[in-house]
Amino acid sequence: MPDIIQLLPDSIANQIAAGEVVQRPASAAKELLENSIDAGAKTIRLIVKDAGKGLLQIIDNGAGMSETDARMSLERHATSKIRKAEDLFTIRTMGFRGEALASIAAVSQLEMKTRTADKELGTLLVVEASEVKKQELVACEKGTSISVKNLFYNIPARRNFLKSNPVELKHIIDEFQRLALAHSEISFLFIQGDDVVYDLPMGKSASLSQRIVNLFGKAYQEQLAPCQEETEYVTVTGYVGKPEFARKTRGEQFLFVNKRFIRSNYLHHAVMTAFEGLLPENSFPFYVIFIEIDPRHIDVNVHPTKTEIKFDDERAVYAVVRAAVRQSLGTHNLAPTIDFREDVNVMSKLGQSSGEAAREVYFDERFQTALNRSNWEKLFEGEGSSALFRQEAPQSAQRIEHKLPPAGDSIDVPEKTLTQLHDKFILRQVKNGLMIVDQQGAHERILFEKFMEDLKYKSAATQQSLFPKTITFPAADFSLIMEIEQEIKALGFRFEVFGKNTVLINGVPANLKYAGEKQLFEGLIDQFKHNQSELSLPLPENLARALAKRASVKAGQKLEKEEMQVLLNSLFSCKTPNYSPEGMPTFYIFELNKLEHYFNRK
Ligand code: ADP
Ligand code: MG
Repeated sequence: MPDIIQLLPDSIANQIAAGEVVQRPASAAKELLENSIDAGAKTIRLIVKDAGKGLLQIIDNGAGMSETDARMSLERHATSKIRKAEDLFTIRTMGFRGEALASIAAVSQLEMKTRTADKELGTLLVVEASEVKKQELVACEKGTSISVKNLFYNIPARRNFLKSNPVELKHIIDEFQRLALAHSEISFLFIQGDDVVYDLPMGKSASLSQRIVNLFGKAYQEQLAPCQEETEYVTVTGYVGKPEFARKTRGEQFLFVNKRFIRSNYLHHAVMTAFEGLLPENSFPFYVIFIEIDPRHIDVNVHPTKTEIKFDDERAVYAVVRAAVRQSLGTHNLAPTIDFREDVNVMSKLGQSSGEAAREVYFDERFQTALNRSNWEKLFEGEGSSALFRQEAPQSAQRIEHKLPPAGDSIDVPEKTLTQLHDKFILRQVKNGLMIVDQQGAHERILFEKFMEDLKYKSAATQQSLFPKTITFPAADFSLIMEIEQEIKALGFRFEVFGKNTVLINGVPANLKYAGEKQLFEGLIDQFKHNQSELSLPLPENLARALAKRASVKAGQKLEKEEMQVLLNSLFSCKTPNYSPEGMPTFYIFELNKLEHYFNRK
């Protein structure tokens, strides 16, 4: 048999690549705009006709290209932005694949004029479907102008697949907005047909807030709250819209990593939890958030048109984003302003941005110093209560007293002011007023931290079942259980496979209150699945949250005095006592002076 395999001609290879890189006019516009940004342009003009189907032209005043480079730029895998594999880990430019121009040129009629500062004359290139039709010297401005005409003219199937002009234009506007937001130091002009779509100046007023107002309208002037948060690992800056301006539809949420627009349900969730309790149901706040991080900690080398990104420590980023937003909304103020007012050192530690972030980062030694127990102790100073913080500052997994002792177990130090309100809240006198603790949220926090430690140190104790129970699951749930078997066992469950899709439960985590082993185990799996579909959490956090949710004391449950005492005690031994795992406050302090003011006592 004769040999039949041949290399594809470049023009076909480019066309195939174009299928990935250039899906519609907007993707070509994005690539060209990014090239101008990478070329250091200070002014970029985008001219569009027929929603980009007729013409896409980008004119920049960037570095331009030499004659050879201009020709090279159209080759596939030709780039000036990386040279070796290691460069992939330090990327600061938008592009690096060297595919965009080759792809666009393969599916359009492209004309390029480009000149570098040191040359009198520039280069003109005319290319049709990858074929160079003309190359000559030409008089032109410094910088680069690229016109892309009749996109997909040589691939009718793709051309017919394009949507109506308003839809295609909307896609271009989306791409344009993202780049214009990320580069308020560049002035942009965007013209469609005879209309100026955006005229975005730069200069003195080229701040991000000004850019936001220029893009979205004057009304945004009042609604922007700046946010800023910095740790060694990551810096978060930007603006969030105040809750009262939230919209019913999504669309004005912008996340950037090193100025690259990304989508991330996980980080969106971080923002949304920071807004928790502040937004009307089903509404979305405006935000423009920039994450700056050493490129070594991220992986952008994914699909060319995808906007996902990988971080090596996604949870740290989550925590800092949430802290930044929370801080900008002022909801973080609770603890520092009320409780630590007198303590200047603590104030500055907590009040400063890094401290705030630190409190949000669970279980990360790098951040552990900011909020220790002695800070919280101040809350109770002079209360004559040694019941709280009786134990030594614990470091081990055992440190959280998660057990609510059965009523009647005596605890020696009585709490003089401890009351349950409507079987939901615990009231306690503190130094500067009245503390109201949400018993359910507080207990979830306590259990969550305990379970996280159990998972980390595999330290959980088990309560053997007297009568082991079998549970049969749907096949999908059963295979999920098999997948996370080790983790479930680390929480203190003991079970074995017992026939098809069936497990035999021999033991459950010790010291939990629960209705029955079966309900607890099934509840854990249900909650875990629910979290999986709603949130994108790392496995241990999901499991710990799921079990904390299922095993916690609920609102409506009567507590004995000793139980309340242990609960408060344990809460303030937590690393992050002031929020439930879902980010809701666990307690509120009614300040004495507000009360006095109310009764005209001051
Ligand atoms: P990439 O941006 O991934 O390097 P492209 O195909 O988009 O690949 O561009 C190829 C090369 O052409 C770039 O690396 C750059 O050197 C050059 N280039 C493209 N557009 C411009 C521009 N507007 N100004 C200056 N150089 C450009
Ligand atoms: Mg590029």
